[in-house]
Amino acid sequence: MQVATEISSPSLFEISLKSFDKATQYLNIDDGVRKQMRLPERELTTNFPVKMRDGGFKMFTGYRVQHNTARGPAKGGIRFHPNVTLDEVKALAIWMTYKCAVMNIPFGGAKGGVICNPKEMNEFELEHLTRRYTCEISCIIGPTRDIPAPDVYTNAQTMAWIMDSYSMARGEFTPGVVTGKPLSIGGSEGRTEATARGCVDVIIETARHLDLELSGARVVVQGFGNAGSNAARLIHDECDARIIAVSDSQGAVMNRGGFDPHRAIEHKMKTGSVVGLPGTEPISPDELLELESEILIPAALENVITADVAPRVKTRILVEAANGPTVPEADEILDENGIFLLPDILANAGGVTVSYFEWVQNNFGHYWKEEEVNSHLKEKMITAFGQVLKVSKKHRVHMRRAAWILAIERVAEAIRARGIYP
Ligand code: NAD
Repeated sequence: MQVATEISSPSLFEISLKSFDKATQYLNIDDGVRKQMRLPERELTTNFPVKMRDGGFKMFTGYRVQHNTARGPAKGGIRFHPNVTLDEVKALAIWMTYKCAVMNIPFGGAKGGVICNPKEMNEFELEHLTRRYTCEISCIIGPTRDIPAPDVYTNAQTMAWIMDSYSMARGEFTPGVVTGKPLSIGGSEGRTEATARGCVDVIIETARHLDLELSGARVVVQGFGNAGSNAARLIHDECDARIIAVSDSQGAVMNRGGFDPHRAIEHKMKTGSVVGLPGTEPISPDELLELESEILIPAALENVITADVAPRVKTRILVEAANGPTVPEADEILDENGIFLLPDILANAGGVTVSYFEWVQNNFGHYWKEEEVNSHLKEKMITAFGQVLKVSKKHRVHMRRAAWILAIERVAEAIRARGIYP
């Protein structure tokens, strides 16, 4: 008989607290305020029934966590996935608080999720699940309370159902309750590619800082969904960089001479994967992370750059388009090896920044052109990059620690200004 070895994977919430705790060592923060900033304000768990296509009912479990609302209403995506846990939702909520603070946008942090497998559900079931989940969390969401957005396996359609359910219950059109909506009901131009565009904005700033030529620079992208494929396309088209390898959940492909990411996008649309892209050769997903490059963009999963992988990463700039792709132990290794890290709470903040623009547009009922959105985004990304770099130089720390220091300072300042009631 084989005895299973129990491996306890690190809690994502504990990982996020590690980043928080390390950063607070550089700050003079009152212990009470520090404790308040570590824990979520509200954790809602709901078990609810959904009518299925066979006419029966099935029970689902969902969560909505609001981490901190000192700087404004809570903001964060909703994830539909079989592996959703309360621990993961709490971690993603804490990241949102500090991501919004780094960008200096007036939101706190939240996240939500439902344990389900959308790949096995039809549109009817997904709509019913979304509407019932909305009903369950409607007591804590709202345009001035908590504003959800799409995340893994949720999209503009999901947001439209949430907005419609919430508006029907309130008896008033309330587009500001969610962001990432279709354009026809108050979505923003530029939202779809905002995360990738924000990544490219900070890559350009980093290249300027490091005196690195982007034209011809070798780029490797892990994950070829919204964030990864758009980042590859934009850096290729707008900076003349060379995409040398990309991957998705099916595998990885490479051509050291570079290839056109538009062809990779078309190939994935046709076949469902980047694997088999003409003019490339297959490589293993592990090899992809270890390729020599100027820019490496993890844009898929959490915990891929581990302490084992980090010493073998041979890039100049590591751009975290994904949330939490690097484990805390790997940060120091990358830093010692001279790799410039653009941390998730800065690098992928373009999405929430344009979500903020969408909310502003909803509140005013006045809508911007795409160029206007992109130029406001660029300004926000460049400002945040400059401020994080300044903190990094002041405390002689890597960019992740600097981003957390800056963000924690801003949240602590808001908590102090508001005082504790009563
Ligand atoms: P997506 O679902 O559009 O794409 C995910 C991609 O990752 C897919 O191509 C999938 O095939 C690939 N993938 C899955 N497992 C993989 C594996 N083992 N190896 C390589 N590739 C794998 O998701 P997305 O919206 O692009 O989000 C990706 C990451 O970016 C997530 O961590 C998400 O939280 C983060 N992010 C996204 C946004 C946004 O606006 N889309 C904003 C902030 C952060």
